[in-house]
Amino acid sequence: MQERLPVSWSERFTQFFFSSSDELNRAWMERMRAYYQLLSETGLLECCVELVEPREAPLEHIKWVHDDEYVEMLVEADRLPAPITIDYGDTRAYPGFLRDILLLIGGEEKLLDHLVEKGAVAGYQPFGGLHHAARRRAAGFCPVNDIAVLVEYARRRYGWKRYAVVDIDVHHGDGTQSIYWEDPNVLTISFHGYATGFYPGTGRFDELGGGEAKGTKLNVPLPPGTGDRAFLEAFQRLVPEALQLFRPQLIVAQLGVDGHRDDPLGILLLTTTSYYNAARILRETAEKLGAKLVGLGGGGYGARAARAMLAETLGLLKHVPEDVARKTHRYIEEEPTSDPPQRVEQLRSLVEMLLEKLEEAVSGESGEE
Ligand SMILES: [Zn+2]
Repeated sequence: MQERLPVSWSERFTQFFFSSSDELNRAWMERMRAYYQLLSETGLLECCVELVEPREAPLEHIKWVHDDEYVEMLVEADRLPAPITIDYGDTRAYPGFLRDILLLIGGEEKLLDHLVEKGAVAGYQPFGGLHHAARRRAAGFCPVNDIAVLVEYARRRYGWKRYAVVDIDVHHGDGTQSIYWEDPNVLTISFHGYATGFYPGTGRFDELGGGEAKGTKLNVPLPPGTGDRAFLEAFQRLVPEALQLFRPQLIVAQLGVDGHRDDPLGILLLTTTSYYNAARILRETAEKLGAKLVGLGGGGYGARAARAMLAETLGLLKHVPEDVARKTHRYIEEEPTSDPPQRVEQLRSLVEMLLEKLEEAVSGESGEE
């Protein structure tokens, strides 16, 4: 029997976003509508995807990650009669926005429960992965860090020991990294564009985690213009081995597609090739490890964002019937982008260094302390 990919989906996902820019909010909602449309047009909805209706999580779950005072501020913002900005200018709260956040969180929790119940490997929610939110602050369209809430949910519900967050959004996963900076049981790996003045400015290769957790926070800063070849070589070399070393029971993947070459906010030249393969590699590795994999939509504001998500959906699926695969490929076919050999080489040595640091951390040796 065909194994279907659970996709957490609510019509509500096409009706909100947290940017202070109306234009970005519109682009976001368009992306959500277009993604659903593509699932339907390609036949994936009929053969291969199982829609899972999200449930609302209780407010308490946010407090597992965020300070009480910060949550109080969110509750107050939620009750105001008009939208307000809750950070330095990027992130907007609107009346009733907490319900939408709790729907995203609850959707991810339900998706994980679904994977456990059905003995399935991977699931996807096209909205979520608000990786810039830290314990005490909102940032970059992220009022709450739903990734960390999902990790905390899994800790409480399933009692697993080790967790990994793999983040390929064009922006560094700074909030998630800061929340788990000193937690040796949460491995974070972030691939992101890195350049002077590019948001958020963190994610250097030498940000490795603090105290006992040193070596469990891995960053791959990618220079502007990085293409599929360099990205995929680095991803393929680093991610499966790092996950095999760390052996997490849950992998949360922030699969933002704003590194696509068409994205108005990005600085990379990735195409659907990268998104398909990154998702496929994650799914294959999770399967090998017997881990659960929850993929989250992350950022993406360009005209091809929905197609890049379709490519990821295909990567998360193990089997797709021939005719559906043909229809899907029409939408995701793009010429892969290349890189100068020097860039590929530099990233290769960076990845080797990161694997060494992780190996030291996992084997309990702290050579540099
Ligand atoms: Zn982003």
